[in-house]
Amino acid sequence: MAPKVRASMGTLGVLGLELVQMDTPPTTAYLQIFTEKRCAANCLFCAQASGSQADLTHIARGMYMPADLEAVVQRLKMAYQKGYLARACIQTALYGEWWKDTVYLIKKIREESEIPISLSVFPLGDEQYRELKALGVNELVIQLDACAPGLFDKIKGKATGGPYSWDRHMDGLKRGVRIFGKVGTHLILGLGETDEEAVRIIDELQKHKINTALFSYTYVRGAQLSIEPNIEDSIRHYRSVQLARYLLTEGMATYSDMRFSDGILSDFGVGRDAIVRIIEDGKAFQTSGCPDCNRPMANETFSRIYNFPGEPDEREKEGIKRELGSIR
Ligand code: SF4
Repeated sequence: MAPKVRASMGTLGVLGLELVQMDTPPTTAYLQIFTEKRCAANCLFCAQASGSQADLTHIARGMYMPADLEAVVQRLKMAYQKGYLARACIQTALYGEWWKDTVYLIKKIREESEIPISLSVFPLGDEQYRELKALGVNELVIQLDACAPGLFDKIKGKATGGPYSWDRHMDGLKRGVRIFGKVGTHLILGLGETDEEAVRIIDELQKHKINTALFSYTYVRGAQLSIEPNIEDSIRHYRSVQLARYLLTEGMATYSDMRFSDGILSDFGVGRDAIVRIIEDGKAFQTSGCPDCNRPMANETFSRIYNFPGEPDEREKEGIKRELGSIR
């Protein structure tokens, strides 16, 4: 059987392997190593978890379809040369052959092209980090997903029966920084964390050179976790954390400048005018993470955008002002 890889529908559209009508095409190719097995870990929000009944093609709202690996790699080379794609992002999963399959895919991409590669993986030993770096991985990403240790245990740690722990993830991130110089992580907002917990961990991670990519919790049919969010609260929370993250990463405010009341951000530590300028600029509300990662429609619906894949338009900026509520 010819080797396969999973690729998001948007990626297959840009590569010309599927006919897909897109408002905003992805600027990164979103790939996942191919297996028909479930992941040995059991993150409750994930379609592919060991205890999930969901379809294996789902990652959050995205559908990752099996495709011919050679064809994807060849088209990726052309799309990179033509400037349609600026990065390849490889998601892994935990199963017996995951390392062999991951190395194979990275080598295949690197034989054909210099496209920057992000690899999203669980904590590994230093030797494997070094090997990944030597193979040509540019960005190492280890997904914390939860904003605090107790939530981590509940959602993807001990309570799920899975192999992960907060301490090992934090240790894996910090060791990754020593080898790669910087690393990334994903945080899912909407799992029950407060503004304060989210902002505190973003600040702590940043001090360790760990860049955060924000995602919103998305229900996947058949997954073990089902949270019915209060839409108004959830969008206020998301926008507040996006804004605070931006202030921290741009050095415009520190965590100690910010104030919280019952876990809710009550003061961003900068004046109202600065916040209005940030909203008008729009970058704070665009997709965060690795360079050139825009993830269009990964967590969004047409009526509810959490991460804007490009600069929000004027109507969207007005919406952001409303969603943030009274600007403090
Ligand atoms: S931030 Fe984007 S490119 Fe980086 S690992 Fe996450 S999804 Fe992939």
